[in-house]
Amino acid sequence: MGIKLLGFDEIDRRAIKLREIVKWYQPHQSFTMDAEADRFLESNPLAPIIGTICDQQITAEDAWRFPLWLCEKLGCRDFTAEVVYKSGQTGIAELLKRYMSDKWPSGMSPDDRAKYLQNVSKYIIGACKLIVNEFSNNPDNMFKLGSYNVPQVYFILRSLPGIGAKKASMIARDFALSLGNWFSGISKRLKKDAGIVFKVNQKHFSEVPVDVHVVRVFGRMMGEFKRTPPRADFSNYSPDIQNLAKLAFPDFPSKLDEILWAVGREYCKDPQPACDECPLLDLPCNYSM
Ligand code: SF4
Repeated sequence: MGIKLLGFDEIDRRAIKLREIVKWYQPHQSFTMDAEADRFLESNPLAPIIGTICDQQITAEDAWRFPLWLCEKLGCRDFTAEVVYKSGQTGIAELLKRYMSDKWPSGMSPDDRAKYLQNVSKYIIGACKLIVNEFSNNPDNMFKLGSYNVPQVYFILRSLPGIGAKKASMIARDFALSLGNWFSGISKRLKKDAGIVFKVNQKHFSEVPVDVHVVRVFGRMMGEFKRTPPRADFSNYSPDIQNLAKLAFPDFPSKLDEILWAVGREYCKDPQPACDECPLLDLPCNYSM
């Protein structure tokens, strides 16, 4: 099976079915599964930036809980970029190491753990320095014009250390959907402090951020593979994924990511996907046929 054997008519049918599925499927929106950590991500403008930077190689839950833990450990009532920057890269790396001591993914080697601590602490300090110097210590100032399109948000975020193409695309997509703690926090503060309405328009510019969940679900449902390919091969699937996104959701292509990413996290796991509970079972998904 696969794209070649499915043919255009079947791919088009599946694109229409995906449009129907997103009308009723409500993915779980909390990364942290922790109400207090979620509230902090909304109420503190720096917290979601630190969560985003941490969100690689470790679980999203652990990454997005770290800002609240860090705030508590720094003992600061005022958790700002300036306070974190003053802790220095070594200080942040030490704290991150303590936080991660019982959370490392089992397959992550000691070398990779050390690299993670070094890179993430460097990115956190770099981002805080930029926020202090360029945005008067207030991350919300990145969006003080209020109205943006998706590529503008993408490049504002890409300028922050530790936020690469995939993360910037995901956040720009969430902002365009008015979704998530980061978006609601910015919206509330800009409105309250300056009367600014924060909006992200021109959703048709959005793209699908290609990551392991998206590739795995796309490949299985379209019959391209059963086993998740190596990370180095992910970019081979990107053109097909982006075009399926435009076919299914021409007004907002990255809506495809909303469902593929959530299904990847909740059901389509390795080695054994939970097909019986999956909203894509009747697409039909080739893996489960
Ligand atoms: S039906 Fe199974 S293989 Fe297909 S996307 Fe869902 S969990 Fe993955």
